[in-house]
Amino acid sequence: MKTLKLALAGAVFSLGLSAIGPAFAQDALTVGVSWSNFQEERWKTDEAAIKAALEAAGATYISADAQSSAAKQLTDVESLISQGADALIILAQDSSAIGPAVESAVSNGIPVVGYDRLIENQDAFYITFDNKEVGRIQAREVQKAKPEGNYAFIKGSAADPNADFLFSGQMEVLKEAIDAGRIKNVGEAYTDGWLPANAQANMEQILTANDNKVDAVVASNDGTAGGAIAALDAQGLAGSVPVSGQDADFAALNRIARGQQTVSVWKDSRELGKRAAEIALELAGGKAMNEVTGVTTFNGGPNKVEMQSIFLTPVAITKDNLQTIIDAGWVTKDVVCQGV
Ligand code: BGC
Repeated sequence: MKTLKLALAGAVFSLGLSAIGPAFAQDALTVGVSWSNFQEERWKTDEAAIKAALEAAGATYISADAQSSAAKQLTDVESLISQGADALIILAQDSSAIGPAVESAVSNGIPVVGYDRLIENQDAFYITFDNKEVGRIQAREVQKAKPEGNYAFIKGSAADPNADFLFSGQMEVLKEAIDAGRIKNVGEAYTDGWLPANAQANMEQILTANDNKVDAVVASNDGTAGGAIAALDAQGLAGSVPVSGQDADFAALNRIARGQQTVSVWKDSRELGKRAAEIALELAGGKAMNEVTGVTTFNGGPNKVEMQSIFLTPVAITKDNLQTIIDAGWVTKDVVCQGV
């Protein structure tokens, strides 16, 4: 059945969609999405965008959530394949552990789109935001607020390549000040599973080790920023110590409005989800990865594998431009300004 569906989709694409009509062309396709940690606020927006794009094309959405377990994600992918997925979109919990699942999909003729996080396999497509630039934005905005002093770095999950891309962008911006001794790195820690509670525990340790003498915190996303701010708050430091984040989570935008968080980085995941869904359908229809519109090559992963990729552009959100994200329909003013 799968072979038949793929052959049909391939034939339709080679005949040209306009000749037959998109509804018929993609009617039979099913896209399976494997989420790593769906509890994170942002993935709900990504999911809505993916679903909408698939529905618009007459395709079916199926999904699974690994609940932060790399082992569960392997069985999730198997299950999506056995449910008839013609293409997979995978947000990897652990970029190495997911390897065998990707190989098994690809060897069964099922294209894989590595979603947001790098899966370093040349047979997988890679769509994300410019994560190094996200790191640069985080460091730049924190440095504007606190050009000198003791800096703590609350990094992402060590199993997620984004954690190191972000950190390398942060370091690129801060290197000169660190080398000159104006900024001192007084503690850095990965956040297991990106979980806010782990970020809070790491921040508590860094505060204790430095007798609370921490002047700025470069946190890698809004969840970890929330954990770090809770630790700062317990020491009466929330609001006086700049903190970065990313994702434009509603709680983070509200913290920015209230002066507790310095910056979030907005990555319009409505666009990421839509593009990923469209690409998954194109690949399932037989399009080659290097023929995808806007594709570029990337080999900046740990193993320097050349990947067919698309990078979207992140945007800094601070107190000065909260209106931008309200105007874009991401969030309402009431939510951002609650309690201000
Ligand atoms: C994503 C972030 C997200 C984090 C935790 C990263 O790979 O790029 O947007 O906050 O994972 O889920």
